Amino acid sequence: MSEKKARMVIVGGVAAGASAAARARRLSEEAEIVLLERGPDVSFANCGLPYHIGGEITDRERLAVQTPESLRAMLNLDVRAGTEAVEIDREGKRIRVRRVTDGGEEWLDYDKLLLAPGASPVRPPIPGIGDRRVHTLRNLQDMDRIKQAAEGAEAVTVIGAGFIGLEMAEQLQRLGKRVTVVELQDQVLPQMDREMTGPVAGALREAGVELILGDGIEAFEPGAEGVGVRLASGKRWAADEVILSIGVRPESGLATQAGLETGPRGHIVVNEYQQTSDPDIYAAGDVTQTRDPVTGESTTAPLGGPANRQGRLVADHIFRPEGVRPYPGSLGTAIVRVFEVVAGMTGCPEKRLRAAGREIESTVVTDHHHAKYYPGACQLSLKLIWDKSDGRVLGAQATGYKGVDKRIDVLATAIRAGMTVADVADLELAYAPPFGAAKDIVNLAGMAACNIRDGLVRIRTGIPEDEDLQLVDLRPPAMAELSPVDRARSIPLPELRDRLGELDQQKPVATVCALGKLSYFGARILAQHGFDVTSVSGGIRVRRDFTAPAGDIPPDGHGHTSRPSTGGDEPAAGRPASEVVQLDACGLACPGPIMKVKEAVAKLAPGTVLEVRASDGGFATDLPAFCRAAGHEFLGAGREDGVVVGRLRAGRTGDAPATTPPGGADGAGATMVVFSQDMDKALAALVIANGALAMGGPATIFFTFWGLNVLRKDAPPPVAGKTFMDRMFGWMMPRGPRKLPLSNMHMAGMGTNLMKWRMASKNLPDLPGLLEEAKKNGARLVACSMSMEAMGLRREELIDGVEVGGVADFLGATSATRANLFI
Ligand code: FAD
Repeated sequence: MSEKKARMVIVGGVAAGASAAARARRLSEEAEIVLLERGPDVSFANCGLPYHIGGEITDRERLAVQTPESLRAMLNLDVRAGTEAVEIDREGKRIRVRRVTDGGEEWLDYDKLLLAPGASPVRPPIPGIGDRRVHTLRNLQDMDRIKQAAEGAEAVTVIGAGFIGLEMAEQLQRLGKRVTVVELQDQVLPQMDREMTGPVAGALREAGVELILGDGIEAFEPGAEGVGVRLASGKRWAADEVILSIGVRPESGLATQAGLETGPRGHIVVNEYQQTSDPDIYAAGDVTQTRDPVTGESTTAPLGGPANRQGRLVADHIFRPEGVRPYPGSLGTAIVRVFEVVAGMTGCPEKRLRAAGREIESTVVTDHHHAKYYPGACQLSLKLIWDKSDGRVLGAQATGYKGVDKRIDVLATAIRAGMTVADVADLELAYAPPFGAAKDIVNLAGMAACNIRDGLVRIRTGIPEDEDLQLVDLRPPAMAELSPVDRARSIPLPELRDRLGELDQQKPVATVCALGKLSYFGARILAQHGFDVTSVSGGIRVRRDFTAPAGDIPPDGHGHTSRPSTGGDEPAAGRPASEVVQLDACGLACPGPIMKVKEAVAKLAPGTVLEVRASDGGFATDLPAFCRAAGHEFLGAGREDGVVVGRLRAGRTGDAPATTPPGGADGAGATMVVFSQDMDKALAALVIANGALAMGGPATIFFTFWGLNVLRKDAPPPVAGKTFMDRMFGWMMPRGPRKLPLSNMHMAGMGTNLMKWRMASKNLPDLPGLLEEAKKNGARLVACSMSMEAMGLRREELIDGVEVGGVADFLGATSATRANLFI
């Protein structure tokens, strides 16, 4: 195009349009550039709109990146705000425009025309949609309306849990509104793979947002008291205001009227230089469809980055066509912050590739955003998706608190460069402890992918249902007890090599753990021992975070969840203020934080408040479960700067000392020494203990010498370092409550079995049942440490919940009870 005579007319003055205009001027001082914008503003920051509504961006003026006047002054543009393009005459190369204020019209000639009118929010034709309290958000005027309406609103409903919907939900919640989010899909952020969105849903619920998934809007019912929101399921409630954020539709009316080619959903079809089916008419931004570089198919990416780059390319192609690089397509790289959780994606999600029948593989790894030993390390999960045949990276998604942007950007670059997972494993990324790790999570994901490609591990997603499969939970016992996996046999990883005999080599095995790491290690051990084994990718944590209802955090008055209560600082009525002990469990992966809490709480006096900081994302759900199991009072959990902060008040159960007054409330209570291994005597001791507990007193049973056999496990784990004599003793003595003989009439087992049968037939509890009941009721079962030494018994051979103590322990307990018995 000859520069001197060039007249470029641009329809749409925001992202793509303004970008094209600015670049055009820098390339040609001579060209006449006309920028038409229907609204009053040009080049404003639509991505910032939610943040002004929520008050994070306080100064409205900052959203107006440029004004018509500044564009005129800086770029010598003919900016016509408040002017709508209404018709294109391709033959005559002219466009009809109408002033919004007075309806005045004129025709403008063009040499080159750029259509950058964007996309408008979808407003489906459902009843009540026209009510003034049902808003959509696209420009500064919408923003002003919503901001004003929100001021007087208490309850706001957001329809649509995509990127913008969630930004709005976050900002409205920040303003103290009661926010409900409705999403048709059964997940938030439907653009992403479901398992990566759990932490986002968790963050919303934790913050008190009510989330309704898998349900769609049926109608709005405007009324004096608000807008009734009715869903397909029949659910209905009243909202003061509604934000509709269910997608956008391309504003391609001008193009279709001019006979330009459009795609199946109305987007303008363009070539790699953004030319439409008419080479003198270009189109850029949300109104166009583009190429998906991963699949090679047409796609849409209504995002700021693509719009800006496409606009710039159009100017290049018009004013310096030689050497201009074609548009490479849009990967759909996107990111969102929802309270403290950040979720990002680039490339294709797994679900889309699978639906298209593409042969792919994927893995999810979880680690920290920088060296875990450096303060402030936050958990981060990264999913990598690659082509099964050549290992080329096709997509990546990340969820975490910090560092999501960096990983997504690195992987967006890797996808653009056509890298394979092996290339990603080899990437040399910036590392010092405050910034990353020697093996960054991006490298780890690449390595995990290579392990799969190299056949070192076979993975599966989700917990298998197959009855024939042996499921092995490799987490430490405390975690396996706290959140058991259905049908799984608990074999902690360090014990796996010694307990291979418990598994049937003829049947397939699946290993599982919290985050997928132990499960991979275990799968390697099993594979090398000849087992047919698969490892559950990402562990149970990804799944549980998804389904966890609000992290078990106690509700406040509105049914909304809360940050941890001040616990000891603000005592509950009648309870003295107590000390708050701090515990830092950051940088520890599951189950590290819970193990650390367990240790710490054992040293605390009852009533002491423990405040724990943990970077492990699942700690918010693990802590309440731990408190329930160990008898401590859970005071709440919340997040600060990406770290879970949880509080508990130490109770008397677990390892904490008893607080019951001596002799119990009314002086009841019993202390017993069980010296015998006879079933009947142990039964008697437990009956007395349970009775004492029922009467409100404490009960301590001190098991010594043969009495220790009452506490032995049926199937103890192999114990390293035992002498031959220790093992001999072990073989000779009865193992646990089911194996104990009667003191009289044992008759080589016949009498004992007869007694067990009679007790069962009269519905009397058996010894294991009484033991469990006593433990549940709070009895202290103390194994004499000296006798254990003498008999070569180790703690791990005793049933759970047993304390190991000495004579001082026994004597201390006797001083608190009236009945002291020797059995
Ligand atoms: P627009 O920016 O919509 O501009 C088109 C302009 O054309 C409009 O101002 C319209 O008034 C005008 N117009 C339309 N028809 C005519 C006509 N006939 N005559 C004259 N003028 C006309 N993207 C991200 O990547 N990250 C984000 O965080 C992000 N957040 C967002 C938050 C919100 C609330 C919104 C609304 C969008 C967000 N986006 C985000 C998307 C991003 O803003 C868009 O992808 C981008 O603005 C598209 O640019 P565009 O130039 O194609 O269209």
